[in-house]
Amino acid sequence: MSEIIIYTKSFCAYCTWAKQLLAAKGATWTEIKVSSDPAQIEQMIERSGGRYTAPQIFIGDVHVGGYDELSALDARGELDPLLARVMGSGTDDVPEASAATIKEKQVSENHRNVIIIGSGCAGLTAAIYTARSNLAPLVVSGREFGGQLYTTTDVENFPGFPEGVQGPDLIDRMKAQAERFGAELLMGHASELGLQQRPFTVTLENGDEYTCDALIIASGASPRELGVPGERELRGYGVSTCATCDAAFFRDREVAIVGGGDSAMEEALFLTRFASKVTLLHRREEFRASPIMAERTLANDKIEVLWNTEVREFLGSSETGLTGVRLIDNKTGAESDLPVAGCFIAIGHIPNSDLLTGGMVELDDLGYVADGQRSLPQTPIDGLFVAGDVHDHHYRQAVTAAGYGCRAALDAEKWLTHRLMGT
Ligand code: NAP
Repeated sequence: MSEIIIYTKSFCAYCTWAKQLLAAKGATWTEIKVSSDPAQIEQMIERSGGRYTAPQIFIGDVHVGGYDELSALDARGELDPLLARVMGSGTDDVPEASAATIKEKQVSENHRNVIIIGSGCAGLTAAIYTARSNLAPLVVSGREFGGQLYTTTDVENFPGFPEGVQGPDLIDRMKAQAERFGAELLMGHASELGLQQRPFTVTLENGDEYTCDALIIASGASPRELGVPGERELRGYGVSTCATCDAAFFRDREVAIVGGGDSAMEEALFLTRFASKVTLLHRREEFRASPIMAERTLANDKIEVLWNTEVREFLGSSETGLTGVRLIDNKTGAESDLPVAGCFIAIGHIPNSDLLTGGMVELDDLGYVADGQRSLPQTPIDGLFVAGDVHDHHYRQAVTAAGYGCRAALDAEKWLTHRLMGT
């Protein structure tokens, strides 16, 4: 058995991301799939000190935790030394083929016509278009390959899939399509951009630097937090932002979900497959969700909706796990405690625009690339384009993200042809 052990389950984007990160380091591991095995689930929860979330990663005698912790270790430069302890002399100890791949990446040409930051629907569509135009784009995946669709189950409204399609399947197909035309996918996270002059520079978290003539930012958006006491402390101990990932750990237990949009409806319905009861907590008395999703939710016997209800605090500790949520009725001011073992937060997303905070690109109050720059994918910086949820807080659909990715790619291609190549 490898000294690296990962407990995983099906429908778990974070499990895939953890394996992708370890694979990029040349590591090998033993995978314990817990989905259909209650005994393995119990073992995972016990070994991880009460974590109700997958993956759980053990490197040697160190319990790393989940993907977020693994990724944070990597960002702090602590993952490589930890892996080195269990892999003998570290990444030099990887099998020959992996070592060759890593080396090849390090010494290869670091300048590209186009770099695309982000591997969600927008980024991969931009990759398909620019690759098909022979621009050989480099796609920097970000920490969460595939973006929001990778944590989604059924996508019923993407054209061309009359029976619906699973979010991760759709992304994997887009990736294959982009690679077929010559796009290169790099598993990594961009930590800094040099936009003052061209070629632009893109610095990755591991220090690697690339340059490019055109840059497409399709960095998407990340789950919004409630910002109440206990939320961070109990993340993974009953508090989750991903029902598709963690619902199976709450079989026959009572759970809550916060939010009134399509995500909250979709996740509430998914949770009913496992939980004995789902209480949906919404701060207003009408849903933001589309009528079809709202109807399905309201028709489900396992779901109870508490309107005008906000979460004040998550109750419990890492020893006990989540024991309940403290609620306030924002009409009457009445407080109450709802005992639940799990609480899922589905209150929308915030744009991943940190890379653009230098003042060269205007961001709105919420951090999206500002309105004036939204109608077109070009930004005020020649050669810099944006696509998808980092600038669109209006439509936020998979198909519109793909459309924005297409526009950014076509504009980047045109810009490269006319401005740079002088034709
Ligand atoms: P969303 O539409 O922005 O909805 C967020 C919900 O969370 C809203 O109901 C909002 O309440 C609530 N909320 C926000 N901040 C809150 C806070 N601090 N405390 C309590 N509640 C809070 O986000 P989403 O549901 O993630 O959907 C995003 C986009 O993806 C949408 O365009 C949606 O249509 C799309 N989507 C589509 C599907 C599908 O078609 N199957 C599935 C998922 C998502 P208020 O209503 O009071 O503002």
